[in-house]
Amino acid sequence: MDKLSQTLKHNVKIMKSRVTKYAVYGAVIAFVALILATLLSSYFQFGEITLEGIMESQKTNVTLWFLDAMPFIFAFWGQYTSSIMAYEAGTMIIDQTADLRDVTVALEYKAAHDATHDAVTDLPNRVLLLDRVEQAIQSAVLQKNLLGLLILDIDNFKEINDTLGQYSGDRLLKQVVSRLTGVVKKSDTLARLDGGEFAILIQGVVERDNAINIVKKIQKTFTTPFLIEGLRLEVQARIGIAIFPEHGKNGDTIIQRANLALYAAKETSKKYTIYSSQLDKNNPHRLTMMGELRQGIENNELILYYQPKINMLTRSVKGVEALVRWQHPEHGFMAPEEFIPMAERTGLIKLLSIWVLNNALGQAEKWYRQNLKMSISINLSPTAFLDTDLPDMIIGMLSRYDIPANLVILEITEGSMIKDPTLAMEILNRLTSRGIKISIDDFGTGYSSFAYLKELPVSEVKIDKSFIRDMVINDNDAVIVKSIIDLGHNLSLNVVAEGVQDKETVVKLKELGCDELQGNFFSKPLSSGDFYKLRLEKKKQNTAKKY
Ligand code: C2E
Ligand code: MG
Ligand code: MG
Repeated sequence: MDKLSQTLKHNVKIMKSRVTKYAVYGAVIAFVALILATLLSSYFQFGEITLEGIMESQKTNVTLWFLDAMPFIFAFWGQYTSSIMAYEAGTMIIDQTADLRDVTVALEYKAAHDATHDAVTDLPNRVLLLDRVEQAIQSAVLQKNLLGLLILDIDNFKEINDTLGQYSGDRLLKQVVSRLTGVVKKSDTLARLDGGEFAILIQGVVERDNAINIVKKIQKTFTTPFLIEGLRLEVQARIGIAIFPEHGKNGDTIIQRANLALYAAKETSKKYTIYSSQLDKNNPHRLTMMGELRQGIENNELILYYQPKINMLTRSVKGVEALVRWQHPEHGFMAPEEFIPMAERTGLIKLLSIWVLNNALGQAEKWYRQNLKMSISINLSPTAFLDTDLPDMIIGMLSRYDIPANLVILEITEGSMIKDPTLAMEILNRLTSRGIKISIDDFGTGYSSFAYLKELPVSEVKIDKSFIRDMVINDNDAVIVKSIIDLGHNLSLNVVAEGVQDKETVVKLKELGCDELQGNFFSKPLSSGDFYKLRLEKKKQNTAKKY
């Protein structure tokens, strides 16, 4: 305040000195005018300018009396108005300075807020999260508590964003935030890191299980579909967990390890994973692998294995499912689960799908020429399924390879329909209009099974191996398998059981009327050479009941 009044005084002084100068000019001009008027008056009154004449004019000429007052009036008026003006100008400057200061403070606050918060959800961002984690570590050390850091990623957020548009993507994020806010405590920090990635810092954790309970609650909130623009979106999330001090002593390490756990959850298709040092060992290898996969595809390091599908009644091979593997130059033989999720995330899935389609159809053509007439089932990722080029590409391939379209079965999962049901339906219709068949893989594991089945142009369902595995010992699984078989038959679909591992399961499936069987009980997936040899042997033995 002192500073303010000083500024005001200073400004008034400056203004006064400037305006007083003009008041002085006014007074001088008035004074000169008065002298001139007195001299002229003396001249016109007495015919000459003399001291007596001047004195006499001053005494007798009333007009000169007014003029006499002018220099004083000018000086006073100048002084007075200059003070008022100077004062007003001074306060104006102070007001403006204060306004400017307010604006600057608001801008500084906004800049600081923007630097630490996410623009869409207004949640703390990565920078602020790190700060909060560091602070929380300090108080956890004092209170001898644990800390839990969860990193959550919405499955296929990028695809949802690309397909439905950024506005819908943002709405989904906001709805996710509302649900997460309902689960976390006020003292916990919910932050948005990137795309569909969020972090939740849980304070006051007494034991590991507290963190896991929260993860379960979070997962539960994702079981209800999200309503975006009138569309019901089934969205899932994976979560990586790291605990302080068990998994790291500082913020950076805890965040990095929760991230690693998240990647592990994605790659193993688990809902959540807790960090373990084992994940660290795999990590460098996984990171470099992303770059290597493209090269691997180009260098033909991928191999297709084939697993037979057996007709329940004739027990003969009705078809094969092509299953991809990667013969990595350093890491050896890798299962699809080790690189397909990664290919889906990095966009390499398209290249991989083209490779698989070309090679599977090429092999099917060879067998067809060798008189092995059987269907070929090819897996398609849900992400590949959002690609509008896909039907034309497959139709183009069909004309390149000499194999009847009705021997080609494309296996999709229920997840393929969720992101863009209209586009998915259009793609399916174009493919089936050319005679290609569609099978729903891993049936029973999605959420939307029954509703979609009657709408889709599918000809087959494959019951997920998780139901088949225990159906002999678990009545619930047996009931599910029976319901799927009945439902499939009511809709005139071919029903396949995958993951059949023993004779008892075959017997039970026969009882329930399943049409086809696939699993290690009959044959593990085999290389094309091994598969051909096996078929020749079986032919030689001429066994009617081949399996
Ligand atoms: P899927 O399409 O459901 O394939 C069946 C999986 O079950 C195969 O695993 C197969 O080896 C395995 N399996 C078959 N019979 C048995 C059994 O009796 N017991 C057990 N425990 N497992 C059995 P695989 O080859 O590791 O493939 C895993 C998944 O990777 C596939 O599941 C499929 O979703 C995906 N995949 C495989 N190849 C491709 C591909 O070319 N493209 C895409 N997009 N995905 C693929
Ligand atoms: Mg499959
Ligand atoms: Mg399957």
